[in-house]
Amino acid sequence: AKAIGRGSYLFFEPEMNARAHERHEMERDLRQALQRGELEMFYQPFVDLERMEVCGAEALMRWRHPERGLITPDRFIPIAEETGLIIEMGAWALREACAEAASWPSGIKLAVNLSPVQFTSPRLVETVCEALGDSGLAVDRLELEVTESVLLQDSQPTLAALCRLHHLGIGISMDDFGTGYSSLSYLQKFAFDKIKIDRCFLSNAQPKEAQAVIRAICGLGHALQLAVTAEGVETAEQLELVRAEGCIAAQGYYFSPPVTAEALRAMLPASGKA
Ligand code: C2E
Ligand code: CA
Ligand code: CA
Ligand code: CA
Repeated sequence: AKAIGRGSYLFFEPEMNARAHERHEMERDLRQALQRGELEMFYQPFVDLERMEVCGAEALMRWRHPERGLITPDRFIPIAEETGLIIEMGAWALREACAEAASWPSGIKLAVNLSPVQFTSPRLVETVCEALGDSGLAVDRLELEVTESVLLQDSQPTLAALCRLHHLGIGISMDDFGTGYSSLSYLQKFAFDKIKIDRCFLSNAQPKEAQAVIRAICGLGHALQLAVTAEGVETAEQLELVRAEGCIAAQGYYFSPPVTAEALRAMLPASGKA
């Protein structure tokens, strides 16, 4: 029989090579996808809980692969981040989503996700301004969603970029609130406009626990003058809960999953502007 040491060496090395190879292929495929127009933005509406009307939509990326069908971002965003390709993909997403939202009724907002890696680009603010300028979308209709990981390294350029975007009149939201280990301290580092309660608080918790957590976050939001919204609302009971505890808006499968641009347009109120 083979020695353990040698055996494990033989086992691990090819596996690591295979993984590196796979990632390399994936990067090449992603770059091609971007060039060939296989990336597509889907949109998930969010609903104003006071008026019970759609008041905006979050843009979510999809890869329409010619053989493998529709691929969700969990499968390709991490690789795009590792390789830096997310900077180009994110710029495309901003242009695409702003152009789409410019045709929506003027009360409807657009939320776009930004990866922390996009903040390593010195051109991020310009990229956002170009997307707004070229589309004609009003600045105050755009919201950018970042997770607390964006502030993790205490990077001055990142904070400066966030401040510049904010000063332009763009809303800045903290996404996946409560999942990091110091969401609270990050609320003091930057004056966010909105926090989005992560969906795990609705889905993983017993109703009583969910209520306590959502009540606490809404109280915090109130005290800090932050809008609090809920994601991952799947049932009428969850909707009632987040509404009763003071969330101002909600999104989730209960209302609609992310859908194509065309399907989203059909959900919007008849517009003044076509
Ligand atoms: P996220 O920003 O937290 O987006 C919400 C995710 O929750 C979406 O997954 C959405 O489809 C899903 N979701 C919405 N409602 C429900 C619900 O009621 N139940 C359940 N179980 N899930 C729900 P999706 O579209 O697969 O996106 C996953 C993540 O990928 C996003 O999480 C975001 O972090 C990232 N992502 C998506 N598009 C982009 C993009 O254009 N740029 C960047 N940087 N990241 C993106
Ligand atoms: Ca988001
Ligand atoms: Ca989220
Ligand atoms: Ca997330």
